[in-house]
Order: sequence, then structure tokens, then C-alpha cells
Amino acid sequence: MTTTKEQLHRVLLELRNTYQNKHAQLETAHALDITGTGYTNHQADDATLVYDQTVSATTLRAVKTRLLQIEDALSRYEQGTYGICENCGREIDLARLEAIPYTPHCLRCAEVRDYQAGI
Ligand SMILES: [Zn+2]
Repeated sequence: MTTTKEQLHRVLLELRNTYQNKHAQLETAHALDITGTGYTNHQADDATLVYDQTVSATTLRAVKTRLLQIEDALSRYEQGTYGICENCGREIDLARLEAIPYTPHCLRCAEVRDYQAGI
């Protein structure tokens, strides 16, 4: 069975939904954290709170980035360029799109980029 771009589009829509919910939850949690952190007599508690805040801020950023990647992929789909590498213009392997439906790069270009980034 071969996955079609239409199927991947549906996957992307579901992913967007999931990440939008995640994002909303984290934003709420984050807002509560900020107002909830005060200078109390419980230093240990405050430290835990600050730690939690750091984690949720990092997670929030990661979720935001992923959401943007998904939105980008969806707009590429609308423009008819979904599944085409933004770097070299070649078709991205369907197997790669199945694994990472929002990727804008083919495996080759992604590897070159990762290599250049020192990953
Ligand atoms: Zn490429």
C-alpha cells in the first residue's frame, strides 16, 4: 500500500489539531506559572517552580516550532509544492514524508544541512 499526498495531508491536519491543543494547554500552564511564582518563604518550592517554568517554556517553544512546520507544510500542500524539496526541488521520498510529514527537505539535503550544522 502506498501512502498518497492526500493521506499525508490528512495526517498533517490531524497533527495541526494535536499541536494546537498542546500549544493552548502549555500557554495556559505557562501563564499560570508566571503569575504563580512569587517570593515566598519556601525557597525549595520556588526552585521547583522555576525549574517547571523553564521546562514548559522550552516545551512551548518546541511545540510552537513544530506547529509552524506543520502550517508551512499545509500551505505548501495548498500551493501544490508539498513533497518537493525546498532546497534542491526534487521529490521527497514518500517513506520520508510518512515518517516526517512536515519536512521541507529531502533526506539528502537534510543530511547535508545536519552535517553543516554539526549535528
Ligand atoms: Zn533536496
